[in-house]
Amino acid sequence: MSYKVQGQRIVIVGGNDEALNKVRLVSKTTATVVIISRHIEADFRAFAVEVIERAFAPSDLDNAALVFVAEEGEDAELAKAEARARGIPLNVVDVPAECDFYTPSIVDRAPLTIAISTEGDAPVLARLVRARIEAMLSPRIGKIASLAGGLRQRVENLIHDGAARRRFYEALVTSPQVEAAEISGQGAEAAEALLTQHVSADAKGVVWLIGAGPGSEDLLTLRAQRLLQEADVIVHDQLVPTVVVDMGRRDAERIDVGKAKGHHSFSQAQINTLIVRLAGQGKRVARLKSGDPMVFGRAGEEIAALRKAGIAYSVVPGVSAALAAAADTATPVTLRGVSSGFIMATAHGADDSDLRHWAALAQSGLTLALYMGKSIASDVAGRLVAHGASPATPVGIVVNAGRADKSTYSGTLASLSSGQVAFSDGPAIIFVGEAVEAGDWADSAQLAGMSFKVA
Ligand code: SAH
Repeated sequence: MSYKVQGQRIVIVGGNDEALNKVRLVSKTTATVVIISRHIEADFRAFAVEVIERAFAPSDLDNAALVFVAEEGEDAELAKAEARARGIPLNVVDVPAECDFYTPSIVDRAPLTIAISTEGDAPVLARLVRARIEAMLSPRIGKIASLAGGLRQRVENLIHDGAARRRFYEALVTSPQVEAAEISGQGAEAAEALLTQHVSADAKGVVWLIGAGPGSEDLLTLRAQRLLQEADVIVHDQLVPTVVVDMGRRDAERIDVGKAKGHHSFSQAQINTLIVRLAGQGKRVARLKSGDPMVFGRAGEEIAALRKAGIAYSVVPGVSAALAAAADTATPVTLRGVSSGFIMATAHGADDSDLRHWAALAQSGLTLALYMGKSIASDVAGRLVAHGASPATPVGIVVNAGRADKSTYSGTLASLSSGQVAFSDGPAIIFVGEAVEAGDWADSAQLAGMSFKVA
């Protein structure tokens, strides 16, 4: 929490360097800062503080919001007792057990302050985190935020839609142009120019088709994460786990167009209509799809609808499930002298001519990555063999690829076709091809019957 101290006093008992450290911190507040000690040793002249060189008196705590005790002895004890009696929050420097509150380590970008607290004694951690945040934020972000403050009334008059207004402010604090201008003292002009641009801009929103990756939040791209933070609405599929959707802005509206239990799922046509309508209202829509949006994501249909409606869109790639599965099992899907290519195909709805074609490809060494095939895996394996693939062709299956709860299975087309396998719950990728043998499948469950040799 932040504590309101305006119009009150912050009393520091002590005149040493420790007291000086606290002065550095609290002199940034709007309180009146008073230093009381019989021994004023440190140099407080750089700060707008009141320095009183005498013994502490209980009345020193009149109208005090906070008390720091930075020395030891009689005065310190008296001050502590008095603060406690009056119920004024007390900080005894370096004595956590006696503190009612602690001062956090701060990143100061006035008017923006970021406070970092560590429980117990972990100053190293606080320092590390602080250094990272310092590096992350432009030193000028506070100045730019102040520019925003100055423009507030004009922005309110010129931009009426709340979401559009927020977009302007976000553009302002992240604009490299405004930052560069701020350095040369032209920040206000650059902010004005940006405002004009936003006022005249088409009020229509935008749709970002974003790849969420296979389902772990750290397999999201930085761009995906940034746009999820900027979105007004997140429209996601059922395959995207909550942990990933949660990377989005907290107050963004969330629409699950997959099947929520008890409700039927949206049809593709309904999804197309939905994203066009939301963007038409001026919203920034994150259309979050599992894996990569362009791979079995029906992005084509959504893009066609957006084009037709004249709505701006862009696509952010994601880690497709087959690539996550390859990574999980260290399977090189292309391999010199073995596999000259890699086919991403859907097992669902594959007809005889598809299977004949793939069987030939697998025969020539290419790796197949079959999506949407878990429930029909045995059948597909059998049909690949019937269409000319060798029964000994290695098969590797990854359920929940890229996620902590992944499980893997290995065998051959023959073993897979020999019966239904009890796979664990979750989506699966089925690899077929000689290159599978080069992966790490030692820990995988063996499919019934024969299996390929594990290195
Ligand atoms: N656009 C997605 C694919 C969506 S189609 C992508 O690029 O990955 C849905 C199919 O993707 C599922 O039937 C399954 O075959 C596969 N899939 C999605 N997530 C998966 C995961 N974490 N592990 C394994 N397969 C996954």
